[in-house]
Parts: sequence; C-alpha cells; structure tokens
Amino acid sequence: MIKVEHLVKHYGANCAVDDVSFEIARGEVVGFLGPNGAGKSTTLNIITGYLSSTSGRVTVDGINVLDAPLAVKQRIGYLPEQPPLYPDMTVEEYLIFVYNLKKCDLNRTKHLEEICEVVKLTDVYHRLIRHLSKGYRQRVGIAQALIGNPPVIIFDEPTVGLDPKQIIEIRNLIRTLGKDHTVVLSTHILQEVQAVCDRIIIINKGRIVADELTENIDRVAGSNSRYTLKICGPQKEVLSLLRARHDVIYAESMPTRDGDAYTYQVEAQKGLDIRKSLFYAMAERGWPIVGMESIGMSLEDIFISVVDKTDNPERGRGKRGRAATAEQDIAASILAKTAEKQKNTEPYQGDD
Ligand code: ADP
Ligand code: MG
Repeated sequence: MIKVEHLVKHYGANCAVDDVSFEIARGEVVGFLGPNGAGKSTTLNIITGYLSSTSGRVTVDGINVLDAPLAVKQRIGYLPEQPPLYPDMTVEEYLIFVYNLKKCDLNRTKHLEEICEVVKLTDVYHRLIRHLSKGYRQRVGIAQALIGNPPVIIFDEPTVGLDPKQIIEIRNLIRTLGKDHTVVLSTHILQEVQAVCDRIIIINKGRIVADELTENIDRVAGSNSRYTLKICGPQKEVLSLLRARHDVIYAESMPTRDGDAYTYQVEAQKGLDIRKSLFYAMAERGWPIVGMESIGMSLEDIFISVVDKTDNPERGRGKRGRAATAEQDIAASILAKTAEKQKNTEPYQGDD
C-alpha cells in the first residue's frame, strides 16, 4: 500500500532522511518509532505529499506521489504533528469545511455523524474549537483525517500532550481504525507501538535501524536469560560457584543485602533454563535461594541497544560490561535481519 524507496531529504547541509526504504502492506498497522529529530515527521510529510524529497521514490496504492499528488492525498487521512485546526470555527463548521475541501461525495450529515461517533466528538459538535481541551482538539484532528474514508491513515505523534486517560482512548481508537485501514503512526514512545502496532520500524538519525514484527520484539523482550538471585551463603564462595557453572555466562554480586542473603545477577546461556539445577546446586551446599527473579528485557533495552549500536558501531561489549550481552546480541540480530531485508530486492510479501 505504501512503498518508500531510497528516500533522502536534505535541509541545507543537514540530512534529515538518509536512504530510507520500507513497504507497508494493505491492512498493516505500523509504528514508526524514533527519538526526537530522527526524521519521522519529515518522512511522513514526504509520503503524504506535503514535502518534496531530495531524492527517492514514494508510491501509495501504486501511485507515485509526484505524478499524482491529489490522487495520493485522496487515499490518505493525515494527522500532522500540529493538527491544522481553525480555533474560531465550531467542530461542525470545521468538519464541513474539510469535507468541502476534500470534495467528499458521501452523504455529508451521515458521514460526519459516523465519524464523530467513532472519535467521540458528538458532545462537543457545536462548540468552538478554541474552547476544547487538548484531547478533544486531537480528536477533531483525527476526525478531519477520517473524512472521505481514506484507506490509509497516517498519524504523526497522535498522543503527544495528552493525559493518560486520553492516551488510552486514542490508542483504542487507533486499534479500531486498524481493523479496516492501513495505519502508520509515528511516536517516540515504545509502549505506544507495542500497544497498537503489528510491526515496528525504528528510525534514528534519518536511517532505519530496525524493522520487525511487534510479536518478535515482544518475544525477545520476554525471553529470560537473566536473573536476580538472593542466596544465603558466603558471598565469595557463592559467586565463584555461580561463575564456575557451564550454563552461566556472567555472574556478579550486587551491593544490596537482604538479611543474610546476598544479591547476584546471573546471565544464563541462551535457551537454557538454569533455575532448577541452580536450586539443587545451592541446596546441596546448604545455601538457600530466597529470591529468584527473571529480568526480562524491556522494549527500552532493545531500543536503546539498537540505537546505541548504530550510533556507536565500534562500541564493543567490554565498555558496557558483559551484562549488556543479551541486549547487544538481540540488537545485532535485529540489525542483521533489517540489513538482510533491505538488501533483498524482492518486494514485501504483503497482500496488496
Ligand atoms: P522527528 O519527527 O523524528 O522528530 P523531524 O523529521 O521533524 O524529526 O526532523 C528531522 C531533522 O530535520 C531534525 O534534525 C530537524 O531539526 C530537521 N528539520 C526538520 N524540519 C526542518 C526544516 N523545515 N528545516 C530545517 N531542518 C529541519
Ligand atoms: Mg516529528
């Protein structure tokens, strides 16, 4: 549905988007994730035809944005970072204005009513936009994007500045829209993409550094190879026993103490569950394990690791210590897969 090929955008000497390529299949809900200044808005503005690129090619539904900008705009509902609202209009006046601007030919009253129901604007339909809260204004921005029933929805940081309740509402709305639209959503918040997207594209300094299905990232995030242990026993001996194990690649004692138990962090060999044998080994020595907690890898860890790795490709394991091994392995595998995908000239196997 959306195909971006070797997109480059320079602002003077600053390269905001640097050879970005990806494809989004019909019906996918994709999160475009990256820190501030990564190039998200620039990319989205080029896809939607609001900015020209320095080089590269964008097609939406097979139509080149440069060849037929209007036809592309008709297929996209866009909520820019700053929603283009007119505060002196009421919600109704504004939506009618957009309806006319888009030359929409659906039954006006019915169409606007349906949209207001979906985005929950009915209560404020006759209010001036300037009197609305930030959350409601954002909904007006979303409503204008939905006018004309475009098959593609692009939201740039849709939840910025909203309170937690509004964020949940907007996320639910995006999930609902995702059922029958192709949705691209940019954000710098990891939980946001995890909550609503099928796929995550991570961009940093204008380059794509990862492109993965959310479930793969979740699986990695949930894979437990690291544990925090609390063991009652002589600290040095416990530590050397842990370090001597063939299934442990890293063990360190921590400064925290809980009664007569010392705390340790342990990283197991990938794919091995060391918990039971650890229990028996400690029991044999008469050193009870009084706490065992797995340290799952958070999405933040993955993100920082992927971004960190691309920022400092020469940075080795030594500097961050061996505790970073799991993250870096995962980052390496995500990066390798992304590079592989980008090398592959075969089109994305979507259903469009
Ligand atoms: P994001 O949306 O990921 O925060 P942007 O696409 O807005 O990032 O910006 C990417 C980079 O391009 C940043 O370094 C930003 O300062 C720069 N930039 C964005 N818009 C302009 C502009 N109109 N003129 C000059 N530089 C810009
Ligand atoms: Mg932005």
